[in-house]
Amino acid sequence: MPEDFGPQLDSLVADMFDTMSHARGVGLAAPQVGVSKRLFVMDVPKDDGPDPRVIINPEIIHYEGEQVGDEGCLSFPGLFQTVQRQSRVVMRGLDLAGNEIELDETELAARCMLHETDHCDGIVFLDRMTALKRELAKRKIKRLQKTGEWK
Ligand SMILES: [Zn+2]
Repeated sequence: MPEDFGPQLDSLVADMFDTMSHARGVGLAAPQVGVSKRLFVMDVPKDDGPDPRVIINPEIIHYEGEQVGDEGCLSFPGLFQTVQRQSRVVMRGLDLAGNEIELDETELAARCMLHETDHCDGIVFLDRMTALKRELAKRKIKRLQKTGEWK
């Protein structure tokens, strides 16, 4: 088992869902809340309602296609940047009970899975941009910091 399953993990995940919904995000990875574990939570609503997921030790086993769209990050509040991602992702991981799960998602859910897996691997979405876009994004962050919108 790659993680210690049990009450501690349950409460970490509950806290992460809380933090995510307060910030109106669709995904949050453990490293973003200062916990160096490879796990993330996400909730990209489906047509029939919310779809909360926990993925521990995410491994991307297949991806295809491409999508280009605006992406935000709870670690960079107020910053939205265009990022190119794959359009379909198949991922394997474990759920809170330690059972193996597989997710096969497209569009926003796929984007979210890729973004959060990046966090688990120490990559932030700024790293996925071209050098020029990254430079513009950094300037925008500085502006946000000056106006106090950035904590
Ligand atoms: Zn993020």
